[in-house]
Amino acid sequence: MSSSDQIQHFLFTNADIRGQLVGLEESYRQAIENHNYPKSIEKLIGEFMAAAALLGSTLKIDGTISIQAQGTGSLTLIMAECKSNREIRAVARYQGECNSSAINELLGIGQLAITIDPEQGQRYQGIVPLENATLAKCLEAYFDQSEQLKTRIWLAGNSGEQVSGLLLQAMPSAISPTDSDAWPRICTLTDTLSESELEKLQNIQLLYRLYHEEEVELYPPHEVNFSCSCNRDRIINALVSLGAQEVEEMFTEEPLVEINCEFCNQSYTVAKEEVEPYLMELDISEIASDLAPSRTLH
Ligand SMILES: [Zn+2]
Repeated sequence: MSSSDQIQHFLFTNADIRGQLVGLEESYRQAIENHNYPKSIEKLIGEFMAAAALLGSTLKIDGTISIQAQGTGSLTLIMAECKSNREIRAVARYQGECNSSAINELLGIGQLAITIDPEQGQRYQGIVPLENATLAKCLEAYFDQSEQLKTRIWLAGNSGEQVSGLLLQAMPSAISPTDSDAWPRICTLTDTLSESELEKLQNIQLLYRLYHEEEVELYPPHEVNFSCSCNRDRIINALVSLGAQEVEEMFTEEPLVEINCEFCNQSYTVAKEEVEPYLMELDISEIASDLAPSRTLH
């Protein structure tokens, strides 16, 4: 595997194509511990985390990127997010049996959304229907239909143990007359990588195995960590977003409600009086953010 809980950038110096390798182990285990997810969902969560770490590292701004899929199947929601400081977290909601390994079978009819929340500025979101069996293929469909830079992702992992990923992205000058076939050539080379090689080879070995005829520069790695950004305000926001009626029902029998963060299991005890003042205000802001126009980010 790529070095664990690290992301490492590389650059094709003659082709204006950049790449990244990520390996997650401890951060992945921390995200799934105490959840008892079915194996198929554990594996998919690892892939979402690796993809979020890869895409998060392409951001040139401070903020958070999230990859989220929702559907009508036994897996109703799965998401991972990565901040620009490479802190990642993930969660899934499911009901009943989750035996398939295909993302579109687990989620049924649904969609995949990629959202970029800059610390300053406007939120961007792009959405594609879930029409492919793997997350990597769904992400490719997203990049094909968006106006973003040409991007491809390869993912592989051992459910519950570790996950590895590789991302390639063509910078605009990669479509230059001097080396016009660089993008398809390097993608074709990368398609020869087996899942087991992506899981087991060290980064330097993997780059040599794939690209020994290309000029590649490998940069020092950066750490990736599991970290949950939950706090009392966010928990109250989540509660309020359920709507006034549901909140009223939760407090009919008890004056205090205990809520566990879905990501990290931290427990928060909330009183009804804490929630009530926010109900109207937050309902309005939720609607406003849903109506915000989607834009593409380069
Ligand atoms: Zn949390």
